[in-house]
Amino acid sequence: MTSKEEKIAKAISEILVAIGEDPERTGLAETPKRVSKSLLELCSSTNREFKNYKVFKENVDNNLIMVGNIDFYSLCEHHMLPFFGKVYIAYIANDNNIIGLSKLPRLVDYVSHKLTIQERITREIIDELNKILKPQGVAVLVKARHMCMEMRGVRKGNSITQTVKYSGIFKENKELQQDFLDRVDNARL
Ligand code: ZN
Repeated sequence: MTSKEEKIAKAISEILVAIGEDPERTGLAETPKRVSKSLLELCSSTNREFKNYKVFKENVDNNLIMVGNIDFYSLCEHHMLPFFGKVYIAYIANDNNIIGLSKLPRLVDYVSHKLTIQERITREIIDELNKILKPQGVAVLVKARHMCMEMRGVRKGNSITQTVKYSGIFKENKELQQDFLDRVDNARL
């Protein structure tokens, strides 16, 4: 184990004791180590930058470029419980500068693999794309279920939280916004 893994495993052991468990019992013997590894995996973009992408030129004629139905899994920073759902991203390129389509799901992984909240995930996708592509505009919609609302607290099972954010020409142009929202509604295979 790395020193980071060891530190977390030790803390998890203490948590197990604090909730009245016996961390030595068979079922739990490996748990601190496992939790430690999975937590580091789920938070793997903490303090990291988004890189390994290439911007290239392609004649896209001001068309809307969209990838929808992108799965994401994250941990809320208030309870460290999962929230997960789907992300829909659209942008209109500037000067035909585009990014590989597979990089959008990667970007979604990047913004969600840390302790965060849904609103920030939505905003960070826009901020990163603005930084990388300087596009004419970006639209992002996130639909999610929050385990901190469903398993505890208000216990609202199956409720879906939706956040949407626009930048650039999407901001003022209601027609473009509607085009994006229609595509979100129609996105299924
Ligand atoms: Zn929460």
